[in-house]
Amino acid sequence: MTRIALYPGSFDPVTNGHMDILHQALALSDKVVVAIGIHPGKTPLFSFEERVELIHSSARAEFAPDEASRIEVISFSGLVVNAAREQGAGILVRGLRDGTDLDYEMQMAGTNGTLAPDIRTIFLPASPNVRHITATLVRQIAKMGGEISAFVPEPVVEPLRQRSWAGA
Ligand code: ADP
Repeated sequence: MTRIALYPGSFDPVTNGHMDILHQALALSDKVVVAIGIHPGKTPLFSFEERVELIHSSARAEFAPDEASRIEVISFSGLVVNAAREQGAGILVRGLRDGTDLDYEMQMAGTNGTLAPDIRTIFLPASPNVRHITATLVRQIAKMGGEISAFVPEPVVEPLRQRSWAGA
């Protein structure tokens, strides 16, 4: 049986926190489908295509070739459980940073479990060195000209600097 995990989120852009969870998920499954949520009306900093490329290049830079090759990136716009079904994923992966994440994620897991009992949510704990990282803060730091290299994978550093300078 091929174990497929779906890891949904915005990934705008992928951070060291996302990479930590992705790495843990790869150890638990045969394939991880990173699912980028597309929200009409919300303008992301990076386009879907750019986010896909940043995830793949970061995985190639940081993971073993066997791990990087087991990642797929897709977009989804409806219910996350529908995206999981379409991908044949029986596992939904979410990262937990703190109690605030837990409260929200418990609601999501309960709701998704009711909608699709055959899809199991698993929570993975953030590693201590990345648990403070959020994509929102990283975007703000970059916009104000701060040093972002401690928060994002190397392939993201330059695109994020340039995009932020461009005033996007
Ligand atoms: P969302 O808006 O769905 O939370 P994000 O892209 O912010 O999208 O996050 C996607 C997933 O990655 C979520 O499960 C989130 O908890 C997890 N995540 C984000 N940052 C970290 C981090 N620093 N450590 C662990 N998990 C994280």
